[in-house]
Amino acid sequence: MKIAVLALQGAFIEHEQRLQQLGADTFEVRQLSDWQQPKDGLILPGGESTVQMRLLRGLGLYEPIREAILQGLPVFGTCAGMILLSDGYLGTMHIRVRRNAYGRQLGSFHTEGAVTGIGDRLPMTFIRAPYIDEILSSDCRALAEVDGHIVAAQQGNQLATAFHPELDPDLRLHQHFLQLIAEARS
Ligand code: GLN
Repeated sequence: MKIAVLALQGAFIEHEQRLQQLGADTFEVRQLSDWQQPKDGLILPGGESTVQMRLLRGLGLYEPIREAILQGLPVFGTCAGMILLSDGYLGTMHIRVRRNAYGRQLGSFHTEGAVTGIGDRLPMTFIRAPYIDEILSSDCRALAEVDGHIVAAQQGNQLATAFHPELDPDLRLHQHFLQLIAEARS
């Protein structure tokens, strides 16, 4: 299994490490020629969504990535990556997000919570995180909530978390993503 990891900016190395721990191959996408390699899935990492958007457009990656996701390429977006998937950005996932939703006081925090279909007590590290304000279509479902706000969702082959699973040793979310890819391929 070969996973493309968007590596323009942000926390992409940790995703590569998690996927490699699970036995998947990864490659970094920094320009269009990287993207054109064969791949079974895509990671959109955390970082700064405004910067990532500008780079995606500038490098000519915006359209091809959007098109591939719409064609069914499995994608996992974390934090800024979740923002990229949302309405008004790539817009492939029918969610509306609130950026920097936890304000200045609580910019970063750690908690644990259940994720539907994955398990209980998953570590959740939030760093100037968004949350999902609204799910805009019935094929998209909430997978986790923290303090009454949706922090994880899935829509077909698209998985998104407001937190950073790659920063904790728990591999269950990445495992779930690889499983999703395996199902998509069969
Ligand atoms: N605050 C960032 C944004 O709005 C997201 C932070 C993160 O990815 N850790 O894009």
